Amino acid sequence: MKYKCNICGYVYDEKEGDAFHKIKEGTLFSSLPDSWSCPVCDAEKSSFAVIDEKKDQNETIKKEVNKTFGQD
Ligand SMILES: [Zn+2]
Repeated sequence: MKYKCNICGYVYDEKEGDAFHKIKEGTLFSSLPDSWSCPVCDAEKSSFAVIDEKKDQNETIKKEVNKTFGQD
């Protein structure tokens, strides 16, 4: 799962962890210490929202379609 900071757009990827805070790869967002904050803007964990990757993909596809059909 990926989590996005609502303040600055930083993405925490559980597969990658967070090198800035020495968080190991594979660390679940829910397992991060309460003291963890966004490495970019220092926002609290509560400022992060799950990224729905399927939804993101659909959005991208929709945009691509609009591009293709919007040119004539
Ligand atoms: Zn941030």
